[in-house]
Amino acid sequence: MKQPRLAPLRDRAACGTCEFGEMHESNDTQFYCRRRAPVLVNSGKGAVFPIVDENDWCGDFREEVDAT
Ligand code: SF4
Repeated sequence: MKQPRLAPLRDRAACGTCEFGEMHESNDTQFYCRRRAPVLVNSGKGAVFPIVDENDWCGDFREEVDAT
């Protein structure tokens, strides 16, 4: 059976609607990307999850499923 064509990933992916994005506690347009383990940065904070903007995206995007 033929599958319906999806829009290109760049047109439908966004960290704000990704399964791996978790809203930042002090800025609702920024998200922690929880796709992978925290990474070391040179900020003196040790390992942290990357902070991404609501409309950023990457090739690992997975559409969030509404579990309600
Ligand atoms: S960086 Fe990629 S995996 Fe992480 S929240 Fe954004 S789209 Fe999802």
